[in-house]
Amino acid sequence: MAKITLDNLAHSYLPKPESEDDFALKELNHDWADGEAYALLGASGCGKSTLLNIISGLLIPSQGRVLFDGRDVTMAPTAERNIAQVFQFPVVYDTMTVEGNLAFPLKNRGIAPAEIAPRVQKVAAMIGMEDQLSRKARGLTADAKQKISLGRGMVREDVNALLFDEPLTVIDPHMKWELRTQLKKLHRDFGHTMIYVTHDQTEALTFADKVVVMHDGRVVQIGTPQELFERPAHTFVGYFIGSPGMNLFDAQIEGNRARIGEATIDLGARYAATGRVQIGVRPEFITLSTGGAGIPARVSRIEDVGRHKIVRLDAGGSEVSMIAAEGEPIPADADRISFAPEGINIYADDWRVAPQGEEAA
Ligand code: ADP
Ligand code: MG
Repeated sequence: MAKITLDNLAHSYLPKPESEDDFALKELNHDWADGEAYALLGASGCGKSTLLNIISGLLIPSQGRVLFDGRDVTMAPTAERNIAQVFQFPVVYDTMTVEGNLAFPLKNRGIAPAEIAPRVQKVAAMIGMEDQLSRKARGLTADAKQKISLGRGMVREDVNALLFDEPLTVIDPHMKWELRTQLKKLHRDFGHTMIYVTHDQTEALTFADKVVVMHDGRVVQIGTPQELFERPAHTFVGYFIGSPGMNLFDAQIEGNRARIGEATIDLGARYAATGRVQIGVRPEFITLSTGGAGIPARVSRIEDVGRHKIVRLDAGGSEVSMIAAEGEPIPADADRISFAPEGINIYADDWRVAPQGEEAA
């Protein structure tokens, strides 16, 4: 297992990149702690696979270095890095049996057959294929082949890191949960450094200790699920994580007060924000009232999603989402919304601004 350091890393697929826009991966400095389980989360095309392939050695970065436990491996081929990588689509040997496929990474490293057999049995149980070990991979469904690919990624115990690139995409939904549980268990049992790429927030938040959120070639936040929820560092994190995502309001700020349209809001702390200033409030921190202080808004739709209700409001032409408890009444004449102070985040040009006094923390 290893700590993985990304030092000044960036990548462009163009031979002569001219501006930042030409970089699929913008400059990045980060340590992946030894033995931690990370999710790399972001929308399609944001650079997740590019980053993963640089770590595994499938891609040489156009700038910067990759270090494993302080050793520069930037130019080292994949095999030398001693990692396992599982891709979105199956990579299996069709002419080999399931058992042969699972044993392959071990045989390849010269592991003794007596050690291979029990390990293959164990992994076959994890992927639910114990009773198909002697079948040829050819003719199996894409789903089964992908499970074999996962198994091959999990079979070695001596790897520096395990990298998964959207490995459950072709897996049947009810099996996804089971396999994710197995991956977590594998992490608990062996403590490998794991990086799990996904565009699905639920997958990321349930799998990882730390989530690395990418947007447009850039890492915008690294944090625990709770940090991403409570203090999104970038408006994209607020929008991408949570269901529905964070509401954003254009605002002017002066000290500890903000103006949103005609309404004045007490922020509970002082801020110094310049550029495009927005207030971000998650739907969980919005309350509804009739008359009094607050921002004028009208209920336009109520969606009952079981555990709670999502109330959609129209606030001067912009849609605002609010979450209300199952039994909470929604008065028909409600015409104001307000924010719970602990749910307020301030953004300047999309980046979170800490309240004065918090910066040092
Ligand atoms: P993700 O895995 O998050 O979907 P990728 O890392 O695959 O994103 O892609 C990031 C960006 O780089 C995208 O704009 C994509 O079109 C581009 N890209 C990916 N692979 C290549 C390649 N081999 N050549 C040129 N551009 C690429
Ligand atoms: Mg990808």
